[in-house]
Amino acid sequence: MSNRTFTMIKPDATKNGHTGAILQMINAAGFRIVGMKMTWLSKEKAGEFYAVHAARPFYGELVDFMSSGPITAAILEKDNAVEDFRKLIGATNPAEAADGTIRKLFATSIGENAVHGSDSNENALIEGDFFFSKLEQF
Ligand code: GDP
Repeated sequence: MSNRTFTMIKPDATKNGHTGAILQMINAAGFRIVGMKMTWLSKEKAGEFYAVHAARPFYGELVDFMSSGPITAAILEKDNAVEDFRKLIGATNPAEAADGTIRKLFATSIGENAVHGSDSNENALIEGDFFFSKLEQF
């Protein structure tokens, strides 16, 4: 399963109409979508997803933002998926993201940064299972 990662198109990108363009970039980079849904996280669910950041000063802002509107969650498959997807999305802060990355193109700030990408194979599995039952992972 180390060829899978998990992503969310965050509320800012959804609201700004970038979902289609981001999915197009994901496909063009060679990722296969093996699970996908549009949903809206409650504050409770957003807090649970980002519990690992609970001690960080921006946790409250992050939970408010991630529950502020709909997102698209997806599981992606490709060789070396976690690392290659982190390269495709770029640095957390769009001001530091490389040209041509999703965050450089679509993020507006370090908090409202358009997309999520898992940071390890282990977290990719945990995060995918947070949103998708086994019957929804193809
Ligand atoms: P990522 O792995 O690149 O998404 O970055 P992190 O794991 O460090 O942070 C998780 C998410 O928290 C980021 O994608 C941002 O949405 C948010 N975040 C990170 N740093 C900040 C910050 O300084 N301020 C705010 N408001 N949000 C932040």
